[in-house]
Amino acid sequence: MPSFSNTYLREANLIGGMWVAADNRKTLNVDNPATGDIIGTVPMAGQVETLRAIDAAHEAFASFRHTTANERAGILRRMHDVMMDNQKELAELLTTEMGKPLAEAMGEIAIGANYLTWFAEEGRRVYGDIVPSPWADRRLMVRHEPVGVVAAITPWNFPSSMLARKIGPAIAAGCTSVIKPAESTPYSGLAWGLIAAEAGLPDGCMNIVTGDAPEIGKAMCASKKVRKITFTGSTKVGKLLMQQSAETVKKVSMELGGNAPFLIFDSANVDKAVEGAIAAKFRNSGQTCVCTNRFFVQDGIHDEFVEKFTKAAEALKVGNGAEDGVQQGPLINQAALDKVQVLVKDALDKGAEVVSGGDVIGGLFYKPTVLTGATDDMRFATEEIFGPVAPIFRFKGEQDAVDAANNTDYGLAGYVYTADLGQAFRVIEGLEYGLVGVNEGVITTPEAPFGGFKESGVGSEGGRQGIEEYLQTKYVCLGGLGF
Ligand code: NAP
Repeated sequence: MPSFSNTYLREANLIGGMWVAADNRKTLNVDNPATGDIIGTVPMAGQVETLRAIDAAHEAFASFRHTTANERAGILRRMHDVMMDNQKELAELLTTEMGKPLAEAMGEIAIGANYLTWFAEEGRRVYGDIVPSPWADRRLMVRHEPVGVVAAITPWNFPSSMLARKIGPAIAAGCTSVIKPAESTPYSGLAWGLIAAEAGLPDGCMNIVTGDAPEIGKAMCASKKVRKITFTGSTKVGKLLMQQSAETVKKVSMELGGNAPFLIFDSANVDKAVEGAIAAKFRNSGQTCVCTNRFFVQDGIHDEFVEKFTKAAEALKVGNGAEDGVQQGPLINQAALDKVQVLVKDALDKGAEVVSGGDVIGGLFYKPTVLTGATDDMRFATEEIFGPVAPIFRFKGEQDAVDAANNTDYGLAGYVYTADLGQAFRVIEGLEYGLVGVNEGVITTPEAPFGGFKESGVGSEGGRQGIEEYLQTKYVCLGGLGF
């Protein structure tokens, strides 16, 4: 029995419409990172269960692909309503397994629901083409069809909304799916099975397995029935999945790691830059792929920015995300906390200075930390921090800042604060990043495409581009028409 009661908590996997245990009955514990308490267990499934889930999705695809876009839009709209009618319940489940403040969890459920309605409408606009024919007696037609069974693997940092961005377009396009949520936060993933069932998604169209990630991933990649892999997570695992998918030449979407730069120029409104910087750094305790990893502040406003930013960081309320007013929760696990400490020590050894924070509060809680004197030989110049640490680099010239910002294998999100329009455009065009916020620190929305350059990924989620990832294009030549 789980130690926490919630309508959407399921300790089983969903295969072909049935909630089931792993064949060998093995389970994994799931804990609450704020308290260390065990919440409950989930099945430790592997290859056999994954293959069964793929078969169920494959069988369901045979009929689901023929439903109309309007019918699928209806399912997605009902799923949206189920989520919003139960927003608090779902947010509490999310906070309990992941640790983020309840207000952020409420926001995550809402944005996930919004992705569903966005794709419900996009699915109704999957237009084909009639192509002017070079032959008098033939007519040429281009149509878009669902790609087939989709395998989706997601991380723990947005355990609900990262799935919304995959489930929404998959259903809208007429695809069926097999989902593997992260081991640390499986309940928000499993909850999607209940939401979908309540909204009338037919059995087998969504299957969810938890357990041995490498084994599940390998089974998904090796299966010829799975025609697409959509993954959000680290670049390391993304590369592995791309390699494994090569054998069956699958369509892939990869939303991978980041190393976001945040550039603040002398002309910037410092108070606005501080507001944006706090959101772009400390949201989700610094554990988002678009969280600022490196602040670059121009000489003329460096000291003023550091002073105001430090004051704002020190005002953040850290604690159990379930408590009122908490703005920063714990890190996800001990490994994450260890990594943050190692990166801070490395920076201090190389000459950085702690302006604020720099230590553990207790448990998995780390103080919001501001470091100055950052240099490009420090490990966070090239590695994702994924924690509440803000390293500040000082720069003089515009091109120096752009070059430094681009000096990474990643290319997901970048931010720039400036009041100079010409400079804004020069920097936008100079940044090798898939998402750029100008005078804004939080920019994700279902209406816009989200995806990285370089080793941050392949493809886009959201926007009108998002559904294309779940479609394949068929050209039809109608001949012998007697003209
Ligand atoms: P991760 O270690 O790559 O894990 C992500 C998912 O992959 C989890 O479900 C994990 O399962 C699974 N996995 C691990 N090894 C696997 C394997 N060999 N085969 C198949 N699946 C495997 O990443 P994370 O630590 O959870 O998440 C943080 C990373 O995600 C960061 O790099 C962050 O930047 C990135 N991220 C990117 C975006 C984006 O949109 N670009 C959004 C959010 C996060 P288990 O949990 O069961 O091990």
